[in-house]
Amino acid sequence: MLASMGCIADCKKERNELNISYLPNINENDLLTELKKLRRMFHKNPELGFNEFWTTARICEYLEELNCTLLYGDGLYNNFSEPELLTEWSDKAYKAAKDRYNNDEWISKLGGRTGLVAIIEGKQPGPEIGFRFDIDGLPIKESSEKSHAPCAGGFNATNENMHACGHDGHITVGLGLAKILANNTEQLKGKYYLLFQPAEELILGGKIFSKLKFIQGLDYFFPIHIGLIGIKKVICGLSFLADKRYNVLFKGSRSHAGAYPEEGKNALLAACSAATNLYGISRHSGGTSRINVGEFIANNASNIISDKARFELDLRGETNEICEYLKFQAQNIINGAAIMHNVESEMTFLAEAETANNSIELISEVRKACLDIGIESDAIIDNYLVPGSEDATFIMNAVIRNGGLSTYIGIGSPTFGGHHNEQFDFDEDILPKGVKLLYQLTENITSGE
Ligand SMILES: [Zn+2]
Ligand SMILES: [Zn+2]
Repeated sequence: MLASMGCIADCKKERNELNISYLPNINENDLLTELKKLRRMFHKNPELGFNEFWTTARICEYLEELNCTLLYGDGLYNNFSEPELLTEWSDKAYKAAKDRYNNDEWISKLGGRTGLVAIIEGKQPGPEIGFRFDIDGLPIKESSEKSHAPCAGGFNATNENMHACGHDGHITVGLGLAKILANNTEQLKGKYYLLFQPAEELILGGKIFSKLKFIQGLDYFFPIHIGLIGIKKVICGLSFLADKRYNVLFKGSRSHAGAYPEEGKNALLAACSAATNLYGISRHSGGTSRINVGEFIANNASNIISDKARFELDLRGETNEICEYLKFQAQNIINGAAIMHNVESEMTFLAEAETANNSIELISEVRKACLDIGIESDAIIDNYLVPGSEDATFIMNAVIRNGGLSTYIGIGSPTFGGHHNEQFDFDEDILPKGVKLLYQLTENITSGE
């Protein structure tokens, strides 16, 4: 419970709009008011994956005031075991962020990389517990209709990006949890790692964070997501689809479309044949699958036989095996389309996400924590498959491989336009519920230690 939050009043500090002033006799409304301020600040300025410089800076600035250790920039990514994973950040984007925010003190300290980890150490012995909060937005222009609550409330984004997946809420829950934990270290058992992860929407940041050294030592690990099921229920064990993304390229040769069409090798036709046949891959009896062709480009004018065409391909399956099956079938179709039209083809890997198994033991712990904070039993769901994908699964699997336990928690809410839609929103009153739930979970898990 939040009984131990009384001590938080001691560290009340005036710190412009970032301040959360927990009161000695805090109630949910007070907590909601304070968390709303944070959520709205982050909502107003969404940044895309690997560009979250301002976002990372504001999280650091907030956590700097707390009793925790911050790992960011070189301190986080130095001695990284797989440096080839660290090539996604661009110097140009970092320079642009520094210029835009007038050499913001914190942005200058980030060394060109986004994301951070806050470590909070209890004075009492106990397990190592990790939480994942993703911080990136999406390339969506937010709705400017007054029926859209962020717009009516004056905190809609106007920078052509949008927190249309609720990651602004994840950051907020993470900061609320950090504050409670950091101000309770005398009684706190164990060591806590709060991962503020970049680039989830690109399914790239989770793989990077899964390689951080301390991940192997985590006893428990909890990623969270808000929204999703459209109703206010907590899901104790969320599952996602495995995902593989590819760039598909067809290369032929140009010719005059009127004079010598027979001399061209038509890459556009090959790409079209492949795209339509990809949707025809047989379903798999082992579970759910998804196939989608995204951006499709063939630049030639209408009087030229197309020499080049490319598209992005997204393959998802309920298991890693189903995803592999889709990849095998897709490769055959792409090769076949190339042969049919006498062109060459390439299928280049872009990104992937795995599936992960939620621990039955931790699903029970989340259920218990829900009941302890007053969530009704019929508003708790043990397992739910979301037909999306998640890169926190890389971190979950790294923890599980090293003997730790993990479950992915869903904090359900109405989602208005739905995820990744310009009208997306969630009920802000789930924010204090999320903070209380995670804190209660830590109390329950460590009570027997
Ligand atoms: Zn998303
Ligand atoms: Zn998301």
